[in-house]
Amino acid sequence: MAELDFKKLGLKCGLEIHQQLDTQHKLFCSCRPQLSKHKPVMTVTRKIRAVAGELGEVDIAAVHEALKDVEFHYQAYPEETCLVELDEEPPHDLNAEALEVGLKIAILLNCEIPDELHVMRKTVVDGSNTTGFQRTVVAGMNGYVETLSGKVGISSVALEEESCQIISKGRHTVTYGLDRLGIPLIEIGTHPDITTPEQAREVAEKLGMILRSTGKARRGIGTIRQDLNVSIKGGARVEIKGFQELKLIPRTIENEMARQSGLISKGQKVAGEVRKAEGDGSTSFLRPLPGSARLYPETDIPPIPLDPAYVKSLGESLPEAWEEKIGRYQKDYGLNKDIATQLVKTNMAETFDGLLKTRADPGLIAATLTSGLTQIRREGAPVERLGKRHFQDAFAMLADGRIAREALLPLLKELAENPGGKPDSIIRKMGIESLSVDGLRILVKKIIEENRALLERPNPEKALMGLVMKEARGRVNGETVMKVLKEEIEKHGKN
Ligand SMILES: [Zn+2]
Repeated sequence: MAELDFKKLGLKCGLEIHQQLDTQHKLFCSCRPQLSKHKPVMTVTRKIRAVAGELGEVDIAAVHEALKDVEFHYQAYPEETCLVELDEEPPHDLNAEALEVGLKIAILLNCEIPDELHVMRKTVVDGSNTTGFQRTVVAGMNGYVETLSGKVGISSVALEEESCQIISKGRHTVTYGLDRLGIPLIEIGTHPDITTPEQAREVAEKLGMILRSTGKARRGIGTIRQDLNVSIKGGARVEIKGFQELKLIPRTIENEMARQSGLISKGQKVAGEVRKAEGDGSTSFLRPLPGSARLYPETDIPPIPLDPAYVKSLGESLPEAWEEKIGRYQKDYGLNKDIATQLVKTNMAETFDGLLKTRADPGLIAATLTSGLTQIRREGAPVERLGKRHFQDAFAMLADGRIAREALLPLLKELAENPGGKPDSIIRKMGIESLSVDGLRILVKKIIEENRALLERPNPEKALMGLVMKEARGRVNGETVMKVLKEEIEKHGKN
């Protein structure tokens, strides 16, 4: 593809991020916000019809969907669904825990916080909400996020209900799981201020880190979704949904710019539409772009006044912004910027902070959590299975002198393979339990005895060191070996 001139093409790009929250309850009921591990207890069948909104306008996307004449089956689960998900009971109060996270994110993104919250209904036409709408409440607006090439405006930070998850789809039926419906989501929308594909990736990455800094961002596949709005001069707004990887964002935008500019140069009209991000940076048509008259008030929930003192107290207990944290790691622990950044980006900062209490060298902890994990992942270890407890155990053993530094990664690798294993028996089974100084001395004496000829050479400790390490590698550190070797060689000289 020819090099695209972003300035000339006039790229306008905005980003929308949806992140599931790891709260105790769903957004408008006390059900557990998780996908069920159980079989559904019942299935309810419904149909939806598109009707004119209060402004007399029929949403074109609604029409598009209604034409399909689809029947929807909703599966209910024992712990994750109640009458609220089935739309047989009004919503309960707004989840205060989720609201707190939403407000903190809005404050972190420099937003104006409203005096009063208004829960709204947003039309949903694919049956993924039993009500036919999604409840949404704006927690902040008119903020911004800093990027390397200037500020990008944040139009709003909102709390939303997650939709149902598709279980199966036939020609005229769709089966949905109600367990996912109502899980709290944070929605962050930017203004179309992004002017280069790389800046879009930077904004997505930064918003992701701000979300994770709250400690309430749910992890795992499908828990965060990025959508992009892309247009060029003379083109039209195209929404691209379903990015699996942030690094695909720039290439996907470039491809969309090329697609729109190709249509324009052929004298064709670019249609506003929703397209799906494919794994190779291309996109495919999903549906026409929904119309804009989609929001109306949720009459079941009265406006929620926000106490300014409460909002102020949230502003004083914000999570550390990632730039601050990276700076602090460099200053307080002498980490280089790359490693400090990697710790924060890979969500390892909290684990790092916890491990500092083991009094291990911060540089060693940081290297283990970054390049160390990369290394054992390359060797095929499922490192995503390692939890804080595994790292705590491994570093506690190092602190107690039970293992040497060299044994840290082999131990973590084994714990990743066998997350339920007992570290005590693992180090014994692997033969990486540290040698005591006494044990080392016995080994050193034995090796000196077997290699007396080496003592005649200049600097015999160098040759002997290699022989000792061959037997003790990973169970003792080199400095201790050298110290004991020198002591024993000296004793021999005196004999
Ligand atoms: Zn419920």
